Amino acid sequence: MQTKRANKYGFCFGVKRAIRLAEQNRGAITLGELIHNQKEIDRLKMDYNVNVETNLDEIKDGSSVIIRTHGIQKNDFKRLKDSNINIVDATCPFVTKPQQICEKMSKEGYEIIIFGDENHPEVKGVVSYCTMPYQVVLQKEQIKINHNTKVALISQTTKNIDNFLQIVNFLIASCAEVRVFNTICNATFENQQSAKILAKEVDVLVVVGGKQSSNTKQLLNISLEYCKDSYCIEDESELKEEWFREKKLCGITAGASTPDWIIKKVEDRIKTF
Ligand code: SF4
Repeated sequence: MQTKRANKYGFCFGVKRAIRLAEQNRGAITLGELIHNQKEIDRLKMDYNVNVETNLDEIKDGSSVIIRTHGIQKNDFKRLKDSNINIVDATCPFVTKPQQICEKMSKEGYEIIIFGDENHPEVKGVVSYCTMPYQVVLQKEQIKINHNTKVALISQTTKNIDNFLQIVNFLIASCAEVRVFNTICNATFENQQSAKILAKEVDVLVVVGGKQSSNTKQLLNISLEYCKDSYCIEDESELKEEWFREKKLCGITAGASTPDWIIKKVEDRIKTF
C-alpha cells in the first residue's frame, strides 16, 4: 500500500500544551482524563507518574492537580481554588473562550444555545457558566424556539462547521435577535478541511484516534462522506487486511489527541499490506 497523510492532522496546540504541563509536573493528578487518548495517558502514568482521579473528594490537600484540556465545571474549579491544592490549568484557551462567552451573554440576558454533545466534558464545563436558561442541541430540530427571546449561539470546539451553519441559518430565520460566536477551534477546522481534501483522492482512509474523542468522530464522518472505505482505529492492532484489498492509496489522518508515535506505527503497518 502507498500512504498519504492529510496536510493537517494529529496533535493540536491545546493537547501539546497539556502534555508539556503534565511532563513538567511529575507526580501530579489529572482531574478526569487529560486528553481523549488512553495510550498517551498510560505513557504519562508510566514515565511521569501522572495519574487520573475522577472524584474531587479523593484529592488530598497539598496535591498538584492538572485541569484537563476540556476544562471542568465552574463549582469544581472554585472548590480547587479554595483548597490547599496546587492548580495546573491545562484547559485549552479555545475551551475557556466559550465558557467566558456563556457567562457574559447570560449576564446580558441572552438565552444560550450550545451546539454540542451534552455528555461531553467540555460541554458540561461550558454550561456550568450559564446563569440564564440554556439548550444543548445536536441539530436544529431539537431547538425550542421562543420568537421573542434573544439568543446567543456557541459551538463545542470540535464540531463540524457545516452543521453549525445550519443551526445559524435556522436561528436567524426564527428569532428576533441572535448573537453567533464561532467557537469551533482552528485546529479542528483545519484538520476537517484537510480530511475532506484527502478523502476525495484516496481509495481507503484510516482515521487514528481515541474512541471517546469528539474531533476524531467528526473526522470519520467527514471522511465517510467522500470516501466510503473510511475506518477509525485507536492503534495498528485494529487494522484489517481486507480493507486494503485491490486498493492502492491509503489516506491517513488523526484526531487532535493522537500522538505521532501511534500514527507512525499505523502507517508502517499499512505499508506492509
Ligand atoms: S482540539 Fe482545539 S479546543 Fe480541543 S484541545 Fe485542541 S486546540 Fe484546544
